[in-house]
Amino acid sequence: MPAKVDMDKIVSLCKRRGFIFPSSEIYGGLGSCWDYGPMGAELKRNVKDAWWKAVIHERDDVVGLDTSIMMHPGVWVASGHVDGFTDPLVDCKSCRLRWRADELETQKCPKCGGELTEPRLFNLMFRTFMGPVEEEASTVYLRPETAQGIFVNFENVVTTSRKKLPLGIAQIGKSFRNEITTGNFIFRTREFEQMELEYFVKPGTDQQWLDYWVQERFNWYVKLGIREENLRLRQHGKDELAHYAKDCYDIDYLFPMGWSELEGIADRGDFDLTQHAKASGKELTYYDAEANEKYVPYVIEPSGGVDRSVLAFLIDAYEEEEIEGEKRTVLHLNPALAPIKVAVLPLSRNEKLTPLAKEVNKRLCSSFVTDYDDSQSIGRRYRRQDEIGTPFCVTVDFESLEDNQVTIRDRDSLAQIRVPIEDLNTILEAKLKGEAFDASSLWATRQK
Ligand SMILES: [Zn+2]
Repeated sequence: MPAKVDMDKIVSLCKRRGFIFPSSEIYGGLGSCWDYGPMGAELKRNVKDAWWKAVIHERDDVVGLDTSIMMHPGVWVASGHVDGFTDPLVDCKSCRLRWRADELETQKCPKCGGELTEPRLFNLMFRTFMGPVEEEASTVYLRPETAQGIFVNFENVVTTSRKKLPLGIAQIGKSFRNEITTGNFIFRTREFEQMELEYFVKPGTDQQWLDYWVQERFNWYVKLGIREENLRLRQHGKDELAHYAKDCYDIDYLFPMGWSELEGIADRGDFDLTQHAKASGKELTYYDAEANEKYVPYVIEPSGGVDRSVLAFLIDAYEEEEIEGEKRTVLHLNPALAPIKVAVLPLSRNEKLTPLAKEVNKRLCSSFVTDYDDSQSIGRRYRRQDEIGTPFCVTVDFESLEDNQVTIRDRDSLAQIRVPIEDLNTILEAKLKGEAFDASSLWATRQK
């Protein structure tokens, strides 16, 4: 197993290869804000697609939702965020830096040793004003979690989806928390993206469904390539449970800074629906036709961070190795997550090779995300594709002009096979799915 990579190497690769840039970089950046570049945007989209597929499309008991970031201010009073979503803060009287009181080990400022103020409670929600009048009535918050958009639509979804409990409602979207302590690259940022599922169940079956979702979510990361030894499950102690939670597990990943939370799976009981029913005056219950009873469902919530997942997938895929005396950096990303699936590389930029290479790219690009690259030496172009995690490179050479065959190079094994251009799509499709490719069957087809 390769040695654990340090964060600087990941940050550097992300900058160098167009995964992630500091936000507003030409102005000197903005604290803890990051922009996803061309490769990062693809990777992030793939992570979200893989989640959506596993949580919604491959099941018949979960539906998707996409709710607005700004919601009625009453939502956040009922959810407990206006009163309870706070951190205790202290200010340094000399250098004016602000610290979280519960993270300090001394009574002095860690930066300058100065005296600190008494702790004050600081709400983590971003506030803004809706409409032209800056008055209390028009104060709205940027959502600190996507979950509440799901709870307030519970009734709408149940009546329109014709589904019975257990029923899941899932969404992916941006959330905002004015964290005092940010850092570790994209691990903790004030603007971030969540993948949240609220899975509504009959009270009394919640423990069983909590166990089920802990296992499901753990398996999702493993299936997409994270090594099991870099993951662990951790149950929250009673003292660290959030105000709404009956029970909670974290899926932790072994990041360069140590074990940190990738996803939390909480049993929220009936807290949210009960709170919203009280505050809105609407009845938020479920009529169970089989049992002929009405109840407020309990909810199991797997809540994962998109950005954190992206970071974990990058770190786990990263490897530096030596091949025949030459160093290479490679991202062993699962093909489903890789930003580019197939690179089309003519051996050199040559007027005889270009038309065929372009034609090969055209054949592939409607089925796969491809990258056509004909600048620099073939060796350097392979290195670049390795660093962005491209599973397969297709090389068009002078022989291709004669025999209509091209070479497929495998990122991980570096094995090369030569295949007919007309079979390229079929072969790559099988290879990207991880299926063993049996060339003999294709040849048999061709002989008919
Ligand atoms: Zn200070």
